[in-house]
Amino acid sequence: MSSGAPRWLSGGCNCGAVTYRVTDAFEYAQNCHCSGCRKATGSAFKPFGGIVHDQFELLTGGDALLLVGDAVDHDVRCGRCGAYLYSVVRDGTYIHVALGSLDDAPTRRPDSHIFVGSKAPWYDITDDLPQFEAFPP
Ligand SMILES: [Zn+2]
Ligand SMILES: [Zn+2]
Repeated sequence: MSSGAPRWLSGGCNCGAVTYRVTDAFEYAQNCHCSGCRKATGSAFKPFGGIVHDQFELLTGGDALLLVGDAVDHDVRCGRCGAYLYSVVRDGTYIHVALGSLDDAPTRRPDSHIFVGSKAPWYDITDDLPQFEAFPP
């Protein structure tokens, strides 16, 4: 033990065309209830983990990606099955991994709910994690 080597988490899309790995060292992890995340995922909210771009590595399917957004910041989906995988954000410097696309369990779990001010009216948050109207302070 204690080799200092990073632990990698594997992830990918629904059809298997796109696979990636990311260091198990998310700087932050949150559940986002904004309308953009709800629409993108078709879910009540999006659990995601943030990490600097160079800790993320696309393994297969790089030629099969569907990018939604602009050239620098965008959502990334599998172009074949449509699965939402991650977003490139903060002027391309960070990756927000959609935690549902992971095959492994990350050490850091979402520790708050953000953009609760625009959450789905039909969904009640039932845990005790802190809630923020928009971005955390
Ligand atoms: Zn796919
Ligand atoms: Zn959001």
